[in-house]
Amino acid sequence: MRILLIEDDAMIGRALRRSLEREGVAVDWIRDGAEGAEAAGLGEHDLALLDLGLPGLGGLEVLRRMRAARVQMPVVIVTARDEIDDRVRGLDLGADDYVVKPFATRELLARIRAVSRRRSGAAESLLQAGDLRLDLAEHTLACGNDVAVLTAREFALMRALMERPGAILSRAQLEDRLYGWGEEVESNAIDVLIHSIRKKFGKSVIRNIRGAGWAVSRDGS
Ligand code: CA
Repeated sequence: MRILLIEDDAMIGRALRRSLEREGVAVDWIRDGAEGAEAAGLGEHDLALLDLGLPGLGGLEVLRRMRAARVQMPVVIVTARDEIDDRVRGLDLGADDYVVKPFATRELLARIRAVSRRRSGAAESLLQAGDLRLDLAEHTLACGNDVAVLTAREFALMRALMERPGAILSRAQLEDRLYGWGEEVESNAIDVLIHSIRKKFGKSVIRNIRGAGWAVSRDGS
């Protein structure tokens, strides 16, 4: 999952990015409203976290422009406690949810999961493909009777594959899902992750399509 964070406060931004990355979320952080609106139009993100009090172009205007440009990505607004009118306007302008500062990261993550769930029409935070079940809250992967907790990056990789069972994702596509702009990516990073997941669940858990990329089976192995 890749999130666009539009937040001008350095301390909040850093803390948010750190805790999201710890959960295996790739974060692109933008500190300016106009640039945020532009980045939202790139179609590279699964969700935007939008601060309302931004210099220059305020968060509500960013949201209005996004929706006017038919950017459909879910938006969670981050607001201060006294911004009730703005929260209401934000929801009416097409935001999916909001969190009030100061908030617990756990709550924000749960709201992000809930918003993603609603968007995909799923009743629980769970991805299934064949024999595989990925718990999006606990970060556990189950394959038949084997269950293991994944590291943040392993989780991000399995999530990317399991969101589109049967689809072949190339190295570049996987790197896009796992790393934000400017993040250093080792050339063998994806191979290392796949190796460690296969070590836990067996080689057949991820199929390798030579020269094309990797996939998980839709109907089990
Ligand atoms: Ca702010």
